[in-house]
Amino acid sequence: MDSVPKDYPRINRATVSTNGDVFEPSSSNNAKQRVTLVEWLNCVLPDLNLPINAADEELRAFLVDGSVLCRVLNKLKPGSISEFGAPVSSSQSRSENVERFLSAMDKLGLPRFQAADLEKGSMKIVLDCLLTLQTHFLPNLGRYNASSQRDEPFRMLTSPTSTSDSKFQRVLRSPIRAEPSAALINHVGHKFHEVFQLKQGSYTDIPAAKISEMMKSNSLDNAPTQSLLCVVNGILDESIERKNGEIPHRVACLLRKVAQEIERRISTQAEHLRTQNNLFKAREEKYQSRIRVLEVLAAGTSEEIQCEKNSIEVKKKIEEQYVERLMKEKESYNQEIANLKEELEIARRKHEKDYSQGATDLKQELEVVTRKYEEQSRDLKQELEVARRKYEEQSRDLKQELEVVKGKHEDQSRDLKQELEVAKRKHEDQCTNLKQELEVAKRKYEEQSLLWKSEATGSQQELENRLKEAVSQLTESRNKVKELENKLKEAVSHLTESMNKVKELEAFSESKSQSWNKKERVYYTFTEAQLGALRELRFASESIRQEIAGTQKSYSEDFSILGTRIKAMDEAAKNYHSLLAENRKMHNELQELKGNIRVYCRVRPFLPGQKQKQSTVEYIGENGEIVVSNPSKQGKEARRSFKFNKVYSPTATQAEVFADTQPLIQSVLDGYNVCILAYGQTGSGKTYTMTGPDGATEAEWGVNYRALNDLFRISQSRKNSYTYEISVQMVEIYNEQVRDLLSNDGTQKRLGILATTQPNGLAVPDASIHPVSKTSDVLDLMSSGLKNRARGATALNERSSRSHSVVSIHARGTDLKGNSTIRSSLHLVDLAGSERVDRSEVTGDRLKEAQHINKSLSALGDVIFALAQKSAHVPYRNSKLTQVLQSSLGGQAKTLMFVQLNPDIGSATESISTLKFAERVSGVELGAAKSSKDVRDVRDLMEQASILVSMYHL
Ligand code: ADP
Ligand code: MG
Repeated sequence: MDSVPKDYPRINRATVSTNGDVFEPSSSNNAKQRVTLVEWLNCVLPDLNLPINAADEELRAFLVDGSVLCRVLNKLKPGSISEFGAPVSSSQSRSENVERFLSAMDKLGLPRFQAADLEKGSMKIVLDCLLTLQTHFLPNLGRYNASSQRDEPFRMLTSPTSTSDSKFQRVLRSPIRAEPSAALINHVGHKFHEVFQLKQGSYTDIPAAKISEMMKSNSLDNAPTQSLLCVVNGILDESIERKNGEIPHRVACLLRKVAQEIERRISTQAEHLRTQNNLFKAREEKYQSRIRVLEVLAAGTSEEIQCEKNSIEVKKKIEEQYVERLMKEKESYNQEIANLKEELEIARRKHEKDYSQGATDLKQELEVVTRKYEEQSRDLKQELEVARRKYEEQSRDLKQELEVVKGKHEDQSRDLKQELEVAKRKHEDQCTNLKQELEVAKRKYEEQSLLWKSEATGSQQELENRLKEAVSQLTESRNKVKELENKLKEAVSHLTESMNKVKELEAFSESKSQSWNKKERVYYTFTEAQLGALRELRFASESIRQEIAGTQKSYSEDFSILGTRIKAMDEAAKNYHSLLAENRKMHNELQELKGNIRVYCRVRPFLPGQKQKQSTVEYIGENGEIVVSNPSKQGKEARRSFKFNKVYSPTATQAEVFADTQPLIQSVLDGYNVCILAYGQTGSGKTYTMTGPDGATEAEWGVNYRALNDLFRISQSRKNSYTYEISVQMVEIYNEQVRDLLSNDGTQKRLGILATTQPNGLAVPDASIHPVSKTSDVLDLMSSGLKNRARGATALNERSSRSHSVVSIHARGTDLKGNSTIRSSLHLVDLAGSERVDRSEVTGDRLKEAQHINKSLSALGDVIFALAQKSAHVPYRNSKLTQVLQSSLGGQAKTLMFVQLNPDIGSATESISTLKFAERVSGVELGAAKSSKDVRDVRDLMEQASILVSMYHL
């Protein structure tokens, strides 16, 4: 036993501890282990009688005093706990026993439990410790299940020295060899176990065939490591004991095989341990990080708590201060209250005093008053008594008087009543009498009245009759009187009559003859007048007849004239189209005679902001003369005169300017291409003339809007013979690139220009073209075009003075009868500023711009000059501007250039250069050669035209 190396148990323990995990299936659960452990304990201490399925608490009850443990250990290894006495009940010796057992375990180098583990908690650690003890001393015992072999090891253990000294038994006694042969028999159950059944033989005696069979088979795979080690130890012991040290070859092979198997297992285990170790490390790290987190949290929490504490303390302090203040206030209040109380007391006392004083005074006064009152009341009572008595006396007197009066009165009233009665009765009688009388009278009256009425009517009639009679009598008598008078008169008159008659007759005859004469005269004059009137009437009727005849004649004449005129008109209407064409031709000829290239000069007024300085323009003549002075020049150059087709003074209105342009607009609808350009330095009013100022009113509209308005107006007036379609393009030429200003997609692509072989084809076909039918469409388009122009440049003004803007209006007229089509276009060009830029002053983009402008403006000048000269070659291709405008420059096309001048002295040089350019292109000098005949022709044509116009009006 002592020969066993000290470190064996450790190796063994390591093997054992992992045995269950690695070599045995985990199904050998704790319950089973527990049962075998209990069985083992019962074996070791037969008097123990532990129940097989003892629970934790039962086991604890057995093991807690440590005596059982000590006894077991002493039995397994006698004397390992030397001072161990009999079981004791005192807790002190109990813990001593446990301590002794544990220290003995330590000595053995076996894992142990803590004393506390035995007292409470899980018994697993304690049982694990006992299991280790079991495996340490009696490894095979726990795994025995065959009862036949149960006694053998026990015997071996209980009397280790008494048994036969067989080698195998010694092997078994050694902790390493303790690996069970029986377990192998039990677990493996094939030929390998036979090796361990050699109880009396030696390894050398094992037949070779058996060993080789063992070697071949996989039996070693299932053998417990302990057994393998036992085999190794057995073989080695045997060889040591034999002294010669020889091991048969086959045994050596077996040894190597076993050793290899052990090595394999150890390496597997090591691998397993490494992985576990890694696992543990990972877990440890995880836990540590958690710990850190928790620490941080804890720190945070403690900080928060600190903060909270601080704030609480601050609050507490504040509250304390508040309480203190409150206390102080309370004290002061108390003080005040005390003071007030005192004052109150004083006041009360004073009041009481005053009150008692006042009360006594009052009482005395009251007494005096009451006394007075009593006296007075007494007096009053006496007086009252007297008065009452008087009153009674008086009333008695009065009563008596009243009585008397009453009696009197009654008598009187009785008398009066009687009288009244009598009177009443009388009155009633009278009344009845009167009534009766009245009745009678009434009746009488009625009767009377009836009677009277009848009488009246009777008498009236009578009277009337009498009256009539009287009247008749009167008339009779009158008549008689008259008769008599008449008779008398007759008698008298007879005489006078006879005398008068003679006179009368004489006078009568006289007067009669006079009156007749008079009448005759009157008649005569009347008939005379009548005759006159008749004559007049006759004359008048004659004249009226004549007039009517005349009128009829004139009417018929008029009618015939009308007929002829209507015929003429009919004819004229029939010839309208031909006449229109003729008119067009004549209009064109007229325009041509005026010159196909025309130059109008317009002088801008000083702007409101500008000071009214002296103007460079000295004189503007009626016929297009203009004299410009340049104070910076000397001699001949200081003053220069030019002549153009027209010069507009600063006061000229937009309408006045357009009036001279208007005829060209008609030409457009007649099928001629027209180009209107504005030339001049920046700020000279080009845009003003062409477009008008920003936000122009209708009066301020420039040539563009007015031209379009006219186009719409004329096309409308011609709608019975032509239908016109008008569309607009708007492009900008900047640095010799053409940009569409009306493109909807916002792309700024470069546009190509067609060589305009067809006179009315579009020069820039790729630029977007917008049909328009009214002026507002054009206004919208142009404002959007201007916006696009602004978008293209950083500053509108800057860019607009550096590029040419071209508004192209295309008109297509279709003749309703002949179905012929007229195409023409009108180009309205706002040129770039013509000011010369000093090359030394600008560089880069600005220089490039200036070069392009110079180039294109001189190309324009060259083209127009060539046209005016009627040169064979016109250099259109020298610039994009002249290419775009080609169809409207030259040939039948009409060109009008507005030359704009800034009147400012500072611009004098520039103005002169502008005027020189204009003079060159105007071709006025050339125009002079064809003047006289042309003028006559013009006059003739004008006359013809006016005749035609008047015919239209008829
Ligand atoms: P340009 O186009 O040649 O650079 P503008 O047409 O922009 O010049 O004119 C410059 C300024 O002068 C603008 O404020 C414009 O309103 C003003 N202006 C030009 N001509 C006239 C005019 N005839 N009457 C009143 N103001 C004018
Ligand atoms: Mg401008």
